[in-house]
Amino acid sequence: VTLVEGGENWECPYCNRAQTVTSGQVYSGRAWLKLSKHKYGEAVLEIDAVACANPKCEEVTLSTTFGKATRFNGPQGPSIHNFLEIQEYKLRPTSAAKPQPDFIPGPIREDYLEACSIRDLSPKAAATLARRCIQGIIRDFCGISKAKLVQEINELKSRVESGTAPSGVTPETVEAIDYVRSIGNIGAHMEADINLVIPVDPGEAQALINLIELLFAEWYVAREIRRARLTAVKQIADNKKSFKAAKTASSQN
Ligand SMILES: [Zn+2]
Repeated sequence: VTLVEGGENWECPYCNRAQTVTSGQVYSGRAWLKLSKHKYGEAVLEIDAVACANPKCEEVTLSTTFGKATRFNGPQGPSIHNFLEIQEYKLRPTSAAKPQPDFIPGPIREDYLEACSIRDLSPKAAATLARRCIQGIIRDFCGISKAKLVQEINELKSRVESGTAPSGVTPETVEAIDYVRSIGNIGAHMEADINLVIPVDPGEAQALINLIELLFAEWYVAREIRRARLTAVKQIADNKKSFKAAKTASSQN
């Protein structure tokens, strides 16, 4: 699969900046692997690279795809036709993990990054890390700590219903957790002991990873934005107060 073509909309996995890729910022090439006998017919390796145009990033995203094709010997030399993808390899970055801000606790970010990096290789290991990550989020952000994740989610649900959940925890995010819980083996996974390995497929592991990204955005990032706004409002109020005080002082002289 070609990563992206010139003129297409693309989001850099390093800085998350959405951009329209210009022709000089994208490269795609195919190499014919000159092997005389193997089961793939004509083996081809495709290289896809995109350079980020954000001046603060300028990272190179790189992937290769192994596949088979038919070789056509034309007057200008051999060319490759009917490329059929067999396997894709993400080289830079190695996983689809999105960069996360420092105000999310380090161990939680680490579990997320590791879950993303092994999703394709071992979905059940990725799901186990994702479960631990979600548990870490609920413990840290909501202050709820119980033996099993499912018990923590149920406690969170009842706190949201009774209006005692931490600010920023909305019924919508709890609904999202419940929705993910209903997919495949994920519900069983959340009820399981941390040492019990439950098989899941890559799609189920990705659903858990998506849920983590949603909680990062809806809880941690949203809280940080609220705090920054509040600080800005207080700053304006403080400035007004000191201005008023200075004015009163000068009028009394
Ligand atoms: Zn970038």
